[in-house]
This record gives sequence, structure tokens and C-alpha cells, in this order.
Amino acid sequence: MNTCVVLFTRDLRVHDNPALAQSVRAFEAVVPLFVHDSSLAAGAPRARFLRGALDDLRGALRQRGGDLAELRGDPVREAVRVARSAGASAIAVAGDVSGYARSREQRLAAACESERLAFRTFPGVTILPPGEVRPGGGGSHYKVFTPYYRAWTAASWRALETTPLRVVLPPDLPKSWFKSTTGSDGETAARERLTSWLSRLESYAEIHDDLAADRTSRLSPYLHFGCLSPREVAERTHGREGAEPFVRQLCWRDFYHQVLHSFPDLRHKAYRAGADDRWRDEKDALQAWREGHTGIPVVDAGMRQLLAEGWMHNRARLITASYLTKHLNCDWRAGGDHFFDLLLDGDIANNFGNWQWVAGTGNDTKPYRRFNPIRQAERFDPDGDYVRRYVPELAGIPGKAVHEPWKLPASAHRGYPSPLTLDAH
Ligand code: FAD
Repeated sequence: MNTCVVLFTRDLRVHDNPALAQSVRAFEAVVPLFVHDSSLAAGAPRARFLRGALDDLRGALRQRGGDLAELRGDPVREAVRVARSAGASAIAVAGDVSGYARSREQRLAAACESERLAFRTFPGVTILPPGEVRPGGGGSHYKVFTPYYRAWTAASWRALETTPLRVVLPPDLPKSWFKSTTGSDGETAARERLTSWLSRLESYAEIHDDLAADRTSRLSPYLHFGCLSPREVAERTHGREGAEPFVRQLCWRDFYHQVLHSFPDLRHKAYRAGADDRWRDEKDALQAWREGHTGIPVVDAGMRQLLAEGWMHNRARLITASYLTKHLNCDWRAGGDHFFDLLLDGDIANNFGNWQWVAGTGNDTKPYRRFNPIRQAERFDPDGDYVRRYVPELAGIPGKAVHEPWKLPASAHRGYPSPLTLDAH
């Protein structure tokens, strides 16, 4: 049988998945494969999320007559091994943007060439693949968001893929490749969330910054793991009131992905050279920030939300990151690493792109801007409900009085003399 291995990475879905859909059309049989890569250690929350997404994908493939082979090791070696033992003639994978993903693609391409296998990458991780729109004066990518957004909205986007009705496996694959579990906390949950989210889209512009309301889509972990196609999400907002500001956020995601594609060091190196030399080594301050004990209520609420839920509201991400880098003068890499370890949606492009933006080392940034956390809290948590929800010590303080820097014994600040005196900004 003419067979192809479809290597899933972070496109864990059957809907609008170009690598899967086109391989199913072009080959008589496919082997859907996921390889747990020992060199990519995700923190516990993301590892659990991944488990749910894989079980759900397996269920969806089984409903279509297929299955998901799950192996451990080096994805290149395992994909080639599976191709050989399944008698496949090709390997397909969704193209991705990080330095690691791109070198994995290059290694796969080289291995396929030496094994006489066809190899192809497909779009699907972003709405527009990196490089599909480029700045007029040359250059590999857009450095500033607004012109990117203009080009991105004007570009023609690929058509949505049909969802395969049947996935045929080649015969006699080893049973040990397949697990028995199926679940529903990946694509299935993502699609339900998207559908219910669309009915609330209208109020997005007005309410997305309200910390206590918590009324953003919460689709980011699903987008990160590819349980949802960003292209499909954008399509389904079409013609709905409130779509534009939301789709603009999806464009930020594409924006940072095209930045990372051209600047693979985004996690470690300042995007703007020369903007990266003012960090202090404040271990206690950093630790107090990580634990949500800085004494600035809204900062502590955000950091504790992250610890408790593997999640933080975007406005709180901005406030806490700004506080770390602009008030405590701690290195954005330390903050970014902490977020990346704990966030369910932890994503190299979005996390470190945003961290650099806030720290003033990144794209499209005003290096001297900093948020005054108290003013931000009064504006985006006017009744103080967000702070009281995550900082139980302050539960008894009514209204916005809760935003005043709080006074705990020094021991509660892990030795750090918190809170800092805040300049008015
Ligand atoms: P919604 O407001 O509903 O937006 C819809 C989608 O648009 C999101 O799911 C996300 O995919 C995308 N999006 C929204 N805002 C941004 C943005 N500023 N940059 C890029 N994409 C965006 N997002 C991540 O997905 N992973 C991260 O690791 C991450 N780290 C961040 C770190 C900092 C310091 C900051 C300031 C922001 C970070 N973001 C990150 C961006 C943003 O905070 C989250 O995408 C958003 O909070 C996710 O919630 P949502 O799905 O409800 O977003």
C-alpha cells in the first residue's frame, strides 16, 4: 500500500490539518505518529495538557478507522524507523518556527533523502506561514506590528482543509505502538470552547482587559498545541460583531511566530542589540515575585494565579512582567523562563516575544514605558475582585482599597523589603 507517515508535533487535531488531510488524500494509507521527544521537557501543567490532547487525537483518529502511534525518543529517528517498518514512502509534518523545530525539520529532510523517502512540510501552525508577507524594503520579516497587521489582513489566506472521513492504517503495525486510552480534553474540548466563545465575541473589545471578568477566549493552550487551527478560528469569527479586535490578537501570534522564525535566539538574546545591559542580580526580589509576595497586590494576584492555574490574564502578564523588569530591574529571561515553565500556553514565540516587548528589548517597543501597577490595578480591577480572588490575605479589604501596597511582616516577603517605592507613571 502506498503509505505516508504523518508526524504530529503541535498540530494535534483532525480538523483543518493540512499535513493530515493532504496525506490522506494522496496516499492509500497513513501512519499518524507522535514522538515524545526526550530533549523537549515541558513543565508538569503542559505535560498533562499534552497527554489530554494526544488521547483526544487518538479518539478522533480511531473514530475514522485509524489510530495514533505513540513512541519515545528522537522524532527523526523514530519517524524514519516507523516509515521503514510500515513500508511507507513519505513523511509529512507541519512546518514550525522555533530554532529547535527548524533543525528537526532539516534533520528529517536529510534523513529522508538518505532513506529515499519523500518529505514535505505543511502549513497549519499559524494563519500565514512566516515569510509569506515581507516588508517592502526587503528583510526577512516584519519588525513592527502595525505594518505587519496591514499586510497580513490584505494577504490571501489558504482555504480551510476538509476533515478526513476515513484514516486507513497499513496492515500489521506493531501493537506496542498504540495505547488504549482515548479522552476528550484536546480538540474536542477546544472546539466546544470555540463555539461557546463565539457567542461572547461581541463584548471582547470592551471587556478583554477586565481582570476580574476573565472574559477572554482562553483558547491559547489549544492554539499552542494545535488542537485548534488558528486559520479556522479566524474563519469562524468572520462576519461576527467584535471579530476585528480578536482577530488582531491572532495576528500578534502570527507576528511573533514570524519574528522567531527569523530570530531563533528570541528566548536568550535581546532582539534590539544594546538594550539589554541594565539588569540587576536580585535573587530575593525575583523569588518574592515568583511566589506572589512582592507586596504589590495586583502583581501578587497575577503571580499566584499563574502558580494555581498555569494561567494568567493577559493584563496581569503585562503588569507582572513590567514590574519585574522595569521596577525590580530583573532580567526578562528569568521572568520569561518562570512563565514558560508554568504556563499551559507556554510558547517560545509568544512568551519571549511579549517579554521582550515589555522589557523594552524587543519588537515594536517603547523602551522607557513602564506600567504603574497600582494605576493599572485601579483601572483594570476597579472593584478589587481579582486581587481578593488570588490573595486571600487581603480578602477583608473592601473595594479598590485592596490595591494599596500591602503590609505583611517582613518574613512574608522572604526577606525582601517590599513593596518598592513606586514612581508615578
Ligand atoms: P485572547 O485574548 O482570547 O486572544 C486570542 C488568542 O490570540 C490567544 O489565545 C493567543 O493565541 C493570541 N494572542 C492574544 N494576545 C497575544 C499576544 N499579546 N501575543 C501573541 N499572541 C496573542 N501567549 C501565549 O500563547 N503563550 C505564552 O507563553 C504567552 N506569554 C506571554 C507573556 C507575557 C509577558 C505577555 C504580556 C503575554 C504573553 N502571551 C502569551 C500573550 C497573551 O497574554 C496570551 O496569549 C493570552 O493571555 C491568552 O489568553 P486567551 O487565549 O484568552 O487570549
